[in-house]
Amino acid sequence: MFEIKAKSGKARVGELTVNGKKAETPFFMPVATKAVGKFVSSDDYHAVDTQTIITNAFLLSLEERFVGPVGKFMGFNGMVFTDNGGFQMLRENLLLDSTDSGVNFKNPYTGKEVFISPRRIMDIQESVGGDVIMALDCVLPFGKSKEEFAAGLERSCLWTRKSKECYRGKQLVFGITQGGVFEDLRKQSCEFVKGLDFDGYSIGGLGIGESSEQMFKMVDVCVLELEEDKPKYLMGVGDPKQILECVSRGIDVFDSILPAKHARHGYLFTWDGVLNIKKASSVNSTIDCDCVVCKTYSLEYLRYLFKKKDSVYMRLATVHNLHFMASFMTKLREAIKADKFSEFREKVLEKY
Ligand SMILES: [Zn+2]
Repeated sequence: MFEIKAKSGKARVGELTVNGKKAETPFFMPVATKAVGKFVSSDDYHAVDTQTIITNAFLLSLEERFVGPVGKFMGFNGMVFTDNGGFQMLRENLLLDSTDSGVNFKNPYTGKEVFISPRRIMDIQESVGGDVIMALDCVLPFGKSKEEFAAGLERSCLWTRKSKECYRGKQLVFGITQGGVFEDLRKQSCEFVKGLDFDGYSIGGLGIGESSEQMFKMVDVCVLELEEDKPKYLMGVGDPKQILECVSRGIDVFDSILPAKHARHGYLFTWDGVLNIKKASSVNSTIDCDCVVCKTYSLEYLRYLFKKKDSVYMRLATVHNLHFMASFMTKLREAIKADKFSEFREKVLEKY
């Protein structure tokens, strides 16, 4: 269930409820692909007030020792989204081929073929036990021709309809729009998923090579086409600047590996912009941050661990960036509630 609580321009605060769990939107989800984030554990997620995470049901289903439901398995007590494997179609080492009935992947552990049909991926997501699941979509790499995207969209529509038919109602189910950066294809995709009465919509196939302007344009097209009162999830976007731009256009949910990856590479998110720990100027800097890491350790110490390539750095920096993302989204929601979102946006954009 989704209920809009406040609005500031097109930006809105909503409440997403499923399986007795609540999450306030807009929120950002860290990525725990195989029931674990890189260098962080569920108590780190809890410590930084992460409301929701996303895991990959397809990849998890290939893990022999995985036992669902995923939240219980990994000790995470918030809401869990699961992705469907469609995005893995971009990985040349995994994708074998696809037909109207589904997609053939190569199991990276056994080398054997794994066939994912819409029915199969709905069953997998149900047994993985997430709270919000995705219909199967057909994902194409950025740069393919419009004809290829049109054919991909046709297949995506077939898979989406079949997924919805196989859905058993135990979670919320989102339909994914595709169509690359082609306005008419996106519109067509939105019209199609809208007709299937999903609980929410995901905007897929963006954040993979197109310009920010192209991404924003497609977000505008989707928000205009899809029902206002349903949650909208822009997949794979986690840059604070892009989040602000997309929240201002009506997006409610985000996920990305970017904040964690940036942390590992020495880029720490702060309210004054991105701090590069490799730069000498950061030696005597402090971060205005109340996370568990910054309350305990100096920037000099983090830099020291970074230079030593110590894995402790990886964890501490990731926890800091995930804390920043959670508090960034909290402040963003507060600004919407106070109807001061555009002031908040300007203030942050000055630094990013
Ligand atoms: Zn911090």
